[in-house]
Amino acid sequence: MAVTAASYFIKTFGCKVNQVESDEVHATLSGRRMVSAATAADASILIVNTCTVTAEADRKVRKELRRLARQPNTSVVIVTGCSAVLLKEQLEELDQKIKVIADRDKISDYIFQLAETYGEHFPSSFADTKRIRVPVKVQDGCEDFCSYCIVPFARGACTSISSDDIVARIQALAETGTKEAVLTGINLGNYESGIPVLLSRIQRETDIYRVRLSSIEPRHVTDELLAFMKFAGDKPGLLCEHLHIPLQSGSDYILSEMNRKYSVDDFCAVVKRIREACPHAAISTDVIVGYPGEGEDDFRQTLELVREIGFAKAHVFRYSRREGTAAALLEPLDPHIVKWRAQALQEQVDMDALRYLESRKGKELEMVVEAINKDAGTISGTTREYLRLTRPHTNQRPGDLINFSILA
Ligand code: SF4
Repeated sequence: MAVTAASYFIKTFGCKVNQVESDEVHATLSGRRMVSAATAADASILIVNTCTVTAEADRKVRKELRRLARQPNTSVVIVTGCSAVLLKEQLEELDQKIKVIADRDKISDYIFQLAETYGEHFPSSFADTKRIRVPVKVQDGCEDFCSYCIVPFARGACTSISSDDIVARIQALAETGTKEAVLTGINLGNYESGIPVLLSRIQRETDIYRVRLSSIEPRHVTDELLAFMKFAGDKPGLLCEHLHIPLQSGSDYILSEMNRKYSVDDFCAVVKRIREACPHAAISTDVIVGYPGEGEDDFRQTLELVREIGFAKAHVFRYSRREGTAAALLEPLDPHIVKWRAQALQEQVDMDALRYLESRKGKELEMVVEAINKDAGTISGTTREYLRLTRPHTNQRPGDLINFSILA
């Protein structure tokens, strides 16, 4: 592809909220007839939506910014997202082509001014691709202040998108072939009217086939929410049978040190209620190992709890110190111990994921076809339980719903 001075490429790090926000920037730029490049190397304007949730995420962002700034076609690297809020000076010092713009709404104006100085006019070559599973941002910000987390400082107080706007957006997506809307937020359950009320409106006023939640805190998993997973007659519920609920630790002592808002018993009670409402629901989670002060016994309790619950999927994170958080003042553990614990837990969660997959063998699964690989003769997609599976391709098309079972 020829490089034009005004072609842009957006690179996104981090969570689904960042993905949605990048999509919004993309929509604004394409609405202003700017050209979307196929790869970063083809673009002169690079926009990097950053994540600062761990020190490792910060390191990756810096490395990528340096690399992108050195590419021959790069005129400017615009940095936005959480790192832009917290690390403006440090990032701009990395390279003179780097420009930090924390307010995403100002990016398109900046690019337009920049492009005008190049004397470019923008051909309209951007065609939006139809997407089958689409994240929809409904909430931003968090006021929980978990002791290890920088997000409340980067994102600020909770805000909610109006339910009128969400319903309109989801209906527009449904009309263009989207089958699954993934409601995303930083602390989704803090949605102003509550997620169940929002789901009722989506159910009544849109034609979307199914909805998934990106992540939800244990205290927000209510019976009203779980009711949306249940079959109505022979029709599956609006809400996919999958909830991502961050556990973080299986030790009450560490949970309280982390300023999490629940005990191990509270978490177990939530799991029990989900399984009563929907026995085959997939529950996924995040666990942090090596939080300062985590003793051998605290870790053993975490390992045992994880084994007992049997998560369908779990992300194991090694504790990462973030400057500015309460936990940054605490003495870190020996990294070798943390590494060993992370490996031990990873082995457990890998076994549990296989166990969950086994438990779904021979049962009917419903998958939305998202992609077709003609060379391999396969289709791939996501089931209601968030299993990413591949099947033989016959005559299906993206967006089709297929029902099948994997052999026992
Ligand atoms: S709930 Fe805790 S971990 Fe999640 S964003 Fe808020 S402060 Fe961070």
